[in-house]
Amino acid sequence: MNIMTSTTSPSMVNRVFIALIAGMVFLSCNSVAQNAPEAEKAAAAKPAEGQAEPDRDVPEGAAILMKCYPDFIKGYKDGKLLMSDGTTLVYDDGREKSFVEKLDDADPEDMFAFTYNRKTRIPEYLQDAGRSRCEALFKKMYGSTEAAVRRNLISVPWFGQKVLFTKVNGAADRLRAVAAELAQHPELSKYFKSEGTFYWRPVRGAKRLSAHSYGMTIDIGGNFKTYWLWKKPGAKETDRNIVYENKMPLEIVEIFEKHGFIWGGRWYHYDTMHFEYRPEILMNNP
Ligand SMILES: [Zn+2]
Repeated sequence: MNIMTSTTSPSMVNRVFIALIAGMVFLSCNSVAQNAPEAEKAAAAKPAEGQAEPDRDVPEGAAILMKCYPDFIKGYKDGKLLMSDGTTLVYDDGREKSFVEKLDDADPEDMFAFTYNRKTRIPEYLQDAGRSRCEALFKKMYGSTEAAVRRNLISVPWFGQKVLFTKVNGAADRLRAVAAELAQHPELSKYFKSEGTFYWRPVRGAKRLSAHSYGMTIDIGGNFKTYWLWKKPGAKETDRNIVYENKMPLEIVEIFEKHGFIWGGRWYHYDTMHFEYRPEILMNNP
């Protein structure tokens, strides 16, 4: 059909063209929408190239640990993580544990006992994902003594400061990536001051080591730090009426999380200056 007849006005031609183009766009969007679920299903069913079929007996948490720490965790067999140094580590000791025992005496499985909720502003009671750390696993990766951890530390530039961070598991590289991204937000710079990274010490009032002992943790915040025990000195871990307080902008938190760091501000026992390299917690709580 020739639409350019002598009786057709230019504006009418335009309208016909617009209608034709709109129709084409509608059809193509529609076909994308119909095809997308099929494509997604196919991608999900087929393992990525070069990726072995997952072993059905591997608990989800063990599989996540293998993905996040491939230099150290090579496999899983008969309830144990197979470590690169030839040793093994029991994944689940099978013991029922109280909240405090999950912090003080964690096996790798206990590390996944809590929810890291990125959607709620105020963390739920006793949800402290990441505070449970299997000490044997972390010592195998980052070093079992202060001297051993120190041997893995390198200096990372941090907004005019130099901080020590472990190169193990690529943590120092991830911190550099965080710094590069934060540098694009000079309006937030008053929060960036480092309050400390490596410090070999037990958690206050407990036997277990602080995450700072392993060199994959940084505290920042200048004058904007909040901490559950400062708010309520003498409070017990299981107290129900700990009042949440945070001054750390979520833009900063999201940049850290993008690079594998969890934030202590998402804990019931909040510690809003604390950022710790724990990609397994993020992978388990997408
Ligand atoms: Zn800290």
